[in-house]
Amino acid sequence: MTEKENKKSVSRRTFLKTSTLVVAGSAIAYGAVSVPLLRKDRLLLRPPGALGEDIFLASCIKCGQCLQVCPPQVIKLAGISQGFGIGTPYIIPREGACILCSGLPCVLACPTGALAHELSLGKDAEMGLAVISGPDTCLSVRGVNDLVYRLQNLHQKSTSSPDQTELKDILTSLIKRLTEDEKKAWQNRFSLPDISDNSLLTISRQIKNPDLEWIIKFVKSSGQARKACQVCLEECPIKDEKTIVFVSRTHPDTGKEYIWPSVRKTCVGCGVCEEKCPTPAASITISPRLKWSEKPAGNQTGNHNPA
Ligand code: SF4
Ligand code: SF4
Ligand code: SF4
Repeated sequence: MTEKENKKSVSRRTFLKTSTLVVAGSAIAYGAVSVPLLRKDRLLLRPPGALGEDIFLASCIKCGQCLQVCPPQVIKLAGISQGFGIGTPYIIPREGACILCSGLPCVLACPTGALAHELSLGKDAEMGLAVISGPDTCLSVRGVNDLVYRLQNLHQKSTSSPDQTELKDILTSLIKRLTEDEKKAWQNRFSLPDISDNSLLTISRQIKNPDLEWIIKFVKSSGQARKACQVCLEECPIKDEKTIVFVSRTHPDTGKEYIWPSVRKTCVGCGVCEEKCPTPAASITISPRLKWSEKPAGNQTGNHNPA
């Protein structure tokens, strides 16, 4: 290659390198700018006490103190895919909700007051509002008992031995709801020494699919199975004031009766109901920062929120 040809080849390589870097750089820059713009309208669920979104974004120094002291470890720090406010704290309720723990340690730990220090009680948190987002899947609306539903799903998924974690979770809830007579029937079926909750729970280790079939029949014939799902209310950490009431309604088109979980003003949007709802996609979800005065209007399926 002549000296002239060599120079030409070098400058071509340099051009290609430079233009590749420019294109890649532009793509990254475009991504960094466009992702926040695309996500601008999607609010994240902030920890309790968070100031209004704009002031919160200006006040939060992204120190991560709140997530370090969070007992259930549910606070995450936003990445680029969350849009505005990279490094700010947020919660995904379905993956782990805020349990409004005593003393609200995240609020106390916040050095800037981005989580307002005036907030001391979980029942005043105002993180958002729960809304029935799956009226067609909600087990209450369908008149289905949550434990029967979960046991049947577990049975369908299992080959010989059911998943232990799911089974123990179901049994723990079931045992709490059994009457003394039902506990005795359980004791006889599995030859247990007594009817204490611990003793009843030990059967999880020996359960195979045929035993699961017996348990499903047992639960279906028990008194508690006549009650449709109310998990969202049962798991709600606001215990002293009913956050959800189950109201009887009639469908305007079909005339069919159903029970509607109606969220009340006392809901603070912590997300525990969304986390615990047993349907594959939660039938109740949190609208971050939604105020009671802005709640969705009633609709044909009964999305009505009495005060
Ligand atoms: S403790 Fe306060 S300032 Fe620090 S990340 Fe959490 S909200 Fe932001
Ligand atoms: S937890 Fe509540 S919203 Fe979810 S299925 Fe049960 S009643 Fe419906
Ligand atoms: S209904 Fe209860 S559990 Fe659900 S968000 Fe409201 S306060 Fe939390």
